[in-house]
Amino acid sequence: MSKTLLIKNARVVVTMDETRREINGGAVFIRDNVIEQVGSSADLPQTADEVIDAGNHVVIPGLVNTHHHMYQSLTRVIPAAQNGELFNWLTNLYPIWANLTPEMIQVSTLTAMAELIMSGCTTSSDHLYIYPNGCKLDDSIEAAQQIGMRFHAARGSMSVGQSKGGLPPDRVVEDEKSILQDTQRLIETYHDSSRHAMQRIVVAPCSPFSVSRDLMRESAVMARHHGVSLHTHLAENVNDIAYSREKFNMTPAEYAQDCGWVGHDVWHAHCVQLDDEGIYMFARTGTGIAHCPCSNMRLASGIAPIRKMVDAGVPVGIGVDGSASNDGAHMLGEVRQAMLLQRVGFGPDAMTARQALELATLGGAKVLNRDDIGALKPGMSADLVLFDLNKVGFAGGWHDPVAALVFCTPADVAYSIINGRVVVRNGQFTTVDLGNVLERHNKLALSLAEAAR
Ligand SMILES: [Zn+2]
Repeated sequence: MSKTLLIKNARVVVTMDETRREINGGAVFIRDNVIEQVGSSADLPQTADEVIDAGNHVVIPGLVNTHHHMYQSLTRVIPAAQNGELFNWLTNLYPIWANLTPEMIQVSTLTAMAELIMSGCTTSSDHLYIYPNGCKLDDSIEAAQQIGMRFHAARGSMSVGQSKGGLPPDRVVEDEKSILQDTQRLIETYHDSSRHAMQRIVVAPCSPFSVSRDLMRESAVMARHHGVSLHTHLAENVNDIAYSREKFNMTPAEYAQDCGWVGHDVWHAHCVQLDDEGIYMFARTGTGIAHCPCSNMRLASGIAPIRKMVDAGVPVGIGVDGSASNDGAHMLGEVRQAMLLQRVGFGPDAMTARQALELATLGGAKVLNRDDIGALKPGMSADLVLFDLNKVGFAGGWHDPVAALVFCTPADVAYSIINGRVVVRNGQFTTVDLGNVLERHNKLALSLAEAAR
């Protein structure tokens, strides 16, 4: 028996369809996990198994987060890592992360997902690249199943420790054979390539400065054999460029191409310092970018030339990045920062509110190599979120509620529907006891911070 859900009388439904329709007084009719109809409330069925009256609400496609390290929610604002650039920041955090446990991965992933979902995100990738003390990617996947988030779990890795010229300490790196074996196991156990899939696996060595060229190449071969995507960090700041020049005698984009890391099934985080040749090559090959404006600002990495990338045809999505380098992982807030930062770098017309919102919906879907999320239209996955305009932060912005969503103080959702399931109703989770999760999370985080003192 199928179950139907109707969202009706919305102040506006932002569809992100081919004509970017915004429907005043709009409605969305969902059957099971798929959108069946989108239109004005008068034209759609008047009833369903569950009806949500969305008067005074803006309805948008669920936001897509393309880059995160959820375990880092345990290591926010660590004093030694508050004021450094990337390499210094990492060097201060690696020893703390060496104490992670499977319980910490599970609880921090739940916490990070709760934060994302409350901020409008319904699909997220997570890049877990450190596996001390028996930690596994399975711990994250379990959390996603529990809270009900659509999840692209990236099997990260580090194999080149300090003794071999890499950045991480030797005790947090793995050997390459077991990395590949575990990646293979995860793909075979969890990867779902079907439409509307709730879980996919991504092959994701951490960065060119923490794994070998061999692992980059073998990862690409494995990913293509199984039809899964590839993800890593690239061209994040000037030191990253210098490392690439010195170690490989190539720019990061050349190195990526040399390792087989370009194509519509690949996306790279940051690319703040990607050169013009790199931008055009990414556009030609359909290689995606996860833009993380807050993290780039916090670590003073620079301003990624997103306007130029989008104009060139590079697929761009938005990512909050890990909570140790963007201590406020609010997805709608990240959309706002993306818009503002392009303006700081390239002028007031460099990005509009609607363009920023498009990056976080259609853009993110494309970067994750999906065509079933990012827009509200028949046949798409039923992932949508509702924001209540009747809040002080939106006062005075009702004449353009879509722009208000991005320009005004980032709000939390009133409702989040993921794969047709109401995961947040009236601002409350239906799937997890958030108070309990946070209590456990804060205890674990304090124990990590105290051990580091
Ligand atoms: Zn990152």
